[in-house]
Amino acid sequence: MSHVITVGGRRIHATKVVCVARNYADHAKEMNTPVPTEPIFFLKPTTALLPGGGSILLPPESHRVEVETELAVILEQGGKDIPPEHAMGLVAGYAVFFDITARDLQSQARQEGAPWTASKGFDTFAPISTGVAASRVHDPHTLPIRLRVNGVLRQDSNTSQMVFRVPQLLAAASRIMSLERGDILATGTPSGVWPIVGGDVLEAEIPGVGSLKCTAVARNR
Ligand code: MG
Repeated sequence: MSHVITVGGRRIHATKVVCVARNYADHAKEMNTPVPTEPIFFLKPTTALLPGGGSILLPPESHRVEVETELAVILEQGGKDIPPEHAMGLVAGYAVFFDITARDLQSQARQEGAPWTASKGFDTFAPISTGVAASRVHDPHTLPIRLRVNGVLRQDSNTSQMVFRVPQLLAAASRIMSLERGDILATGTPSGVWPIVGGDVLEAEIPGVGSLKCTAVARNR
């Protein structure tokens, strides 16, 4: 279990994983949920990280685990109440991220008004690719984002479709919690989230940022 991620050839210790729910309108639609008017954040534990990809362990507690492909932002420097116009200067780099979700547990939590901790927080539920330095990415809001499962294209969108962009997300998150060096912001998924079973091979790419490959492994109780 590693909390160390590589960004632009440098190793950075990951401090927390801040995720955004429903940040692409087409994904909100496929979930039958409204597009938010303010960013909705949740956290994943750093113990869920799987740097460089590898085996996603499917927990026996869930009968429907889904993959969401996302652009991750890794912070060089943190802050509190960060103005949006200063936010991009704090970014170390970008990576490809899977927000692995036990959808059945999440649906149950939604119905009960319970937190998403279980549905989002299992070990290996946060694979992240090797990151590219921010200086190598001209604009993080113009990037194709794709997922193939067993070679079949399942997600095919562009980060231009984000509801809230990176500066707004960092500003909004930092009004709630202090952001720190090594924080990872997962910026939400486009539509096409896909259920995975043991043996499935997941391959995602964000051209100019990187690629991420994982295999799903069924885990017995
Ligand atoms: Mg997500």
